[in-house]
Amino acid sequence: SPRMANSKFEYVRLFERPDSLLLNTWIVVRIDGRGFHRFSARHGFTKPNDQRALNLMNAAAVQVVKDLPDITIAYGVSDEFSFVLHRATTLFERRESKLVTTITSTFTSWYMYLWPQYFPETPLLPPLPTFDGRAVCYPTEGNLRDYMSWRQADCHINNLYNTTFWALVQQGGMTTQEAEDKLKGTLSKDKNEILFSQFKINYNNEPEYFKKGSVVFRDYQDFEVKDLLPQHSKSSTSTPKEKSNSQLEKGKKLAKKTPVVVEHVDIIQDEFWVRRPWILG
Ligand code: ATP
Ligand code: ATP
Ligand code: MG
Ligand code: MG
Ligand code: MG
Ligand code: MG
Ligand code: MG
Repeated sequence: SPRMANSKFEYVRLFERPDSLLLNTWIVVRIDGRGFHRFSARHGFTKPNDQRALNLMNAAAVQVVKDLPDITIAYGVSDEFSFVLHRATTLFERRESKLVTTITSTFTSWYMYLWPQYFPETPLLPPLPTFDGRAVCYPTEGNLRDYMSWRQADCHINNLYNTTFWALVQQGGMTTQEAEDKLKGTLSKDKNEILFSQFKINYNNEPEYFKKGSVVFRDYQDFEVKDLLPQHSKSSTSTPKEKSNSQLEKGKKLAKKTPVVVEHVDIIQDEFWVRRPWILG
């Protein structure tokens, strides 16, 4: 019978590698566009920062956060997004491949689906956009905060470079090679100086959107509700506390009702986190 035949073959499952991620750690899944340097050129992204492309990245990320309530915060810049799953999450039994592939493909699907809304004049034709993904576990809140700071500091450094580079090319009439040579070995203050003296650009007055990147999170109005969230456990030393089914359901309903917002704010200093205790709580 087919059933007998199946039991004969089933042992192949034992070849699968268990890949559940360490308990009680923050899981960060970072996705990044494949070959977006070329993709952005092919689709005529404005340099250094195409607003439509950033809005599209953010819109896709908002959908991912809505789909997966265990994601408490996400941070995006350029062609990348980091999604943070609460350390108590049990989503997909914390299996790495399920988490990474689900988040990456959910994001990619939404990116494709929403493309025409953000680029109505640019049909999306093959080669189509794809994203890679990886998961990293961070054991302490400090490590997670440092991860987020690292990405935002990177955003700032890249944006200062790109803003100066493209000013030299677009307004200064340099070739890309000349601009690259000119910026080789320069410090931040040198780039600020070039921007100001040559182009009357005060970098501090550039849009927060470009300087800070995009922070995506659920904007609970009354943070007392945090006690209802499925992922919350007060103790940082024990493994996640079990919640009753009705608590879990309530938390999920509340998460579904809460707007997911996109802000371009500092996440390196404490203030952002202190004002929103539900994100790390
Ligand atoms: P890889 O496949 O290794 O990730 P990549 O070409 O995607 O290669 P990245 O380091 O990820 O390289 O850089 C992404 C590139 O995409 C940026 O350097 C920039 O040229 C382009 N890009 C992404 N978003 C925008 C945007 N909103 N506006 C203009 N250019 C963008
Ligand atoms: P999980 O998220 O754990 O993968 P799942 O619901 O996707 O859960 P699978 O074991 O992957 O469960 O099974 C996929 C199911 O999708 C099948 O059991 C079947 O019901 C449905 N399905 C997939 N392809 C087809 C198809 N071509 N026609 C009809 N049903 C399909
Ligand atoms: Mg890269
Ligand atoms: Mg890339
Ligand atoms: Mg990138
Ligand atoms: Mg399936
Ligand atoms: Mg299947």
